[in-house]
Amino acid sequence: MELSKRQEKILEIVKAEGPITGEQIAEKLKLTRATLRPDLAILTMAGFLDARPRVGYFYSGKTANQLLGEHIRNLYVKEYKSLPIVVKEETSVYDAICTMFLEDVGSLYVIKKEGQLSGVISRKDLLQAAMGKQDLSSVPVGVIMTRMPNIITCRPEDTLYHAALQMMRHQVDSLPVVRDFPESPGDLEIIGRISKTTIVKAFVELGQNVKM
Ligand code: ADP
Repeated sequence: MELSKRQEKILEIVKAEGPITGEQIAEKLKLTRATLRPDLAILTMAGFLDARPRVGYFYSGKTANQLLGEHIRNLYVKEYKSLPIVVKEETSVYDAICTMFLEDVGSLYVIKKEGQLSGVISRKDLLQAAMGKQDLSSVPVGVIMTRMPNIITCRPEDTLYHAALQMMRHQVDSLPVVRDFPESPGDLEIIGRISKTTIVKAFVELGQNVKM
């Protein structure tokens, strides 16, 4: 976030003399308290300053980078997850390819008959299967998918940052968002999807929000 000249000056004053009231800052800058009000509100909202009633403004001691990092680690999977596209283990590779095109996604999640997470199918998995000589309508995705327990997942209460870190560490494009499967401990139910596109969207949103 870029600060205006006046906001930089306010920060300097509070750093040197805080706690200090809005009136006192205004006096030093030879401005009215009302003129300063929006700047003080911005600096407080952005986390550079802390304000305490009847005491005044303090410098929080945090750099713009620290504040941005805090902001990023305050985004949660449950606020950003999108709809998962799901197929069954028996679905043919041919139908999975059609689903991927129709739904415009890069990975499909595979479920067992009762709905538990069973595996993941990515574009390359399908390409690899298509390179073979077999009839794609008769090969079930259950045969070619990456399967449990090797699926990297995330939970709605995880931070988006944690999900992004997991995608990077494991070099995958998406993570199923899961919760424990009701009445079947150890199994997982798919309730959403976080993909690299989700992270790009959040990044753009962050850029828009910090512009003041
Ligand atoms: P692409 O095939 O387009 O490169 P990915 O990088 O997501 O897409 O997939 C690479 C491999 O990792 C594939 O074999 C896929 O089945 C597997 N995979 C994808 N997502 C996950 C995940 N969340 N957990 C475990 N394996 C995954």
